[in-house]
Amino acid sequence: MKGVRWDPVFDELGFPRDPDNLYLQTVATMLESAETVDLKHRVKIILAQPKNEIMVHFPVRMDDGHHKLFKGYRVQHNNALGPYKGGLRFHPDVHLDDVKSLALMMTIKCSLVRLPLGGAKGGVKCDPRALSEGELQRVTRRFTAAILNDIGPDYDIPAPDVGTNAQVMAWIADTYQMSTNNRTSTDAMRVVTGKPVEIGGSLGRNKATGQGVVDVLIEMLPALDLPMTDLTASVQGWGNVGSWAGRILEKKGAKITAVMDHSAILRNEHGFDCDALTAYCVEHGGIAGFEKQSGGSNKGIGGEAITLDEFYQQPVDVFIPAALEQMVKAREAEMLQCKVIIEGANGPVTPDGDEVLERRGIPVIPDILANAGGVTVSHFEWVQNKTNHSWTEEFVDAELNRYMVMAARRTLLARQKYGVPLRKAAYCSALEHLGDVYKVRGIFP
Ligand code: GLU
Repeated sequence: MKGVRWDPVFDELGFPRDPDNLYLQTVATMLESAETVDLKHRVKIILAQPKNEIMVHFPVRMDDGHHKLFKGYRVQHNNALGPYKGGLRFHPDVHLDDVKSLALMMTIKCSLVRLPLGGAKGGVKCDPRALSEGELQRVTRRFTAAILNDIGPDYDIPAPDVGTNAQVMAWIADTYQMSTNNRTSTDAMRVVTGKPVEIGGSLGRNKATGQGVVDVLIEMLPALDLPMTDLTASVQGWGNVGSWAGRILEKKGAKITAVMDHSAILRNEHGFDCDALTAYCVEHGGIAGFEKQSGGSNKGIGGEAITLDEFYQQPVDVFIPAALEQMVKAREAEMLQCKVIIEGANGPVTPDGDEVLERRGIPVIPDILANAGGVTVSHFEWVQNKTNHSWTEEFVDAELNRYMVMAARRTLLARQKYGVPLRKAAYCSALEHLGDVYKVRGIFP
């Protein structure tokens, strides 16, 4: 079934047989690795479904005076390792099965990095680009009110994801603190991470996911027999993860020669000026039009518009999908002309895409390792808040690097131990840890 291995657990739990379903794909990946590490059946079935799936509907007054009903989700996948943890996505395509997949990935990610955190994900079905700032704030606060009893500083801790940012986290923290018995205590602000630094956010959190992508890449390149010098890369998605990964890589001497986002697909053989591209993107809401910026493509500014197929066919050392899930299917995987893929987004390569890439000998550094920098610095933020202390940016960066390097090495060790590709290896390492934790904790009653 298109790269998805059917597991008996699917029949036992009554899963739908849709090979394009992201949840089925993610659970299939997990179960395959569970088989490899000989995970107990009871742990497999626990991990194959989230503990809680919370769905809410709530009305919000729009600027023109009418009320609109919004749908929100919070899926709490697992808390065996610690409080539920994971981002909130504001996007028109948010739906239950995607949120469930992303929540499962968070459990696996936190386990791989050995953070004392569980896995969760949530979101609101809306287009944040089409909302005014006031509407966005009312959606955020009303959603927070709807899930108020389901989140908490030691129970379930949301963070930014696609379509949300530090400001959204500040509104959640403020609403939560004002609405709970903790309202006189700033400790309640621990309910979210990725907050603005002014209210307890961590230095280095904003760039953390992109920084982690680069840290992992640098650690993995020698193991994949690839040099770090004169590196070229293409980036899909110029949001928080893509733009930071691009900017940090450029500072390390790499050339970012192709970039796409929701508004345009651009190429610059000489390498984009990533700071200029990011500043332009913030001002114009997308990268479209940057190609016409003065200087022309031969000065590292501007570039040229290309087609989607040309983007995938761009010869580069590294391809960084940092947009949404399921972007690289078999067709795109056939087109790629890169030496390695590192997943900045969650779930960008589908199982049939993975199959093609394996056949073509292109290694994929998987999401649960590559983009774990965000939740790692979220954990640092939570620890800083708990101890009423703030770390320097240098210390955050060094600690992040230490965690990323350890997680990368764990993945390489599992690859060697089980003789499997990197994605499976990362899942194997994470599942070994979860299996150990379930073994010592047991299942109550
Ligand atoms: N949304 C990010 C992720 O997918 C960060 C989650 C967090 O910091 O809790 O990993």
